[in-house]
Amino acid sequence: MPIVNILLYCRPGFEKECTSEILAITQNANIYGFIKAKENSGFVVFHCKTKVSLEQLNEAILFKDFIFIRQCVFVTDILKNLPTDDRITPILELIKQLNLTFNDAWLETPDTNEGKQLSSFCKKFSTPLLNTLKQNNLFNKKSQHRLHLFFLSSSAVYVGASHIDNSSNLVMGIPRLKMPRSAPSRSTLKLDEAFKTMLNQQEQDTLLCNGMTAVDLGACPGGWTWQLVQRGIKVFAIDNGPMNDELMDSGMVEHVKADGFKYSPDKTVDWLVCDMVERPLHISQLISRWLVEGKCQYAAFNLKLPMKKRYDIIMQCKQNIEQNLMAAGLRKTLRIKHLYHDREEITCIII
Ligand code: SAM
Repeated sequence: MPIVNILLYCRPGFEKECTSEILAITQNANIYGFIKAKENSGFVVFHCKTKVSLEQLNEAILFKDFIFIRQCVFVTDILKNLPTDDRITPILELIKQLNLTFNDAWLETPDTNEGKQLSSFCKKFSTPLLNTLKQNNLFNKKSQHRLHLFFLSSSAVYVGASHIDNSSNLVMGIPRLKMPRSAPSRSTLKLDEAFKTMLNQQEQDTLLCNGMTAVDLGACPGGWTWQLVQRGIKVFAIDNGPMNDELMDSGMVEHVKADGFKYSPDKTVDWLVCDMVERPLHISQLISRWLVEGKCQYAAFNLKLPMKKRYDIIMQCKQNIEQNLMAAGLRKTLRIKHLYHDREEITCIII
């Protein structure tokens, strides 16, 4: 059974956005098919009608461009009714038909409560699977492919592959970040995740440096400011609310009680970060203005998602920002992701 489907993981509740996204990308690449999706399932499957190879799929569908899609795996049809006494034999048969070797094998589930209940099953299954792959010469450290077994239950699984350079390098597409004890709010994890997953190591090393300056609009109590301070960046924290005392004691923060839409820095800062709860189009205009007027070099911000037309509004914001930057002759890169720590919002980075 060859690869015929594209399996896409997302936060449960965002299957519609995930569907809009893959349909736009596949149509653009002249790959036709149909979607199977269930609300709150945490995944979507695109069934290809157009005959395409794995190489063509990897060329046409670029993981880095996804917003709502956490992981993308090219899979065969679902394998159902696995016998409880020997699941490995039918799975191995299918793996052999993929005609690939793998540098790793991940056992995954949807990010749902039912999925979580399968995690100990997956752990137990992992060693026998790895041993079987090695015995059958399917394991190769130099391979560019990763094997994914995506279990919907202990008797139903999607089997497929991702290219290591065209997929999330996180199991289930989920980063495991620790909440720092001294950070003033859980929001801190959003900016940490954004920096760690939306910037590569070289970008993190060169764009987030000791001695840089930043403005944090809507800063209180200071979770985002804390992330910047940890990286040696001096922050102007703009908010009428109270900042965390310990963070203020760092001497790296100047708290300015002002309206984030009216505040303007005396000098250009390196970073503008913004977590104000406002209409997404309003925030994208504000961020564009800061960049176009040269008030900041780089930006990281959240766009709160509306109740309806979430995908359309985000596309509109993306288009607006790109048009504004282009009209001003600014060659910047805009990256947008629905991060694991984002709920009804998405995160953007402009560098
Ligand atoms: N990023 C913060 C953190 O990590 O702790 C949390 C920010 S909280 C989601 C939103 C903040 O935006 C609130 O503290 C609120 O006072 C502030 N805010 C909303 N509208 C604002 C405005 N027009 N100007 C300044 N701050 C604003």
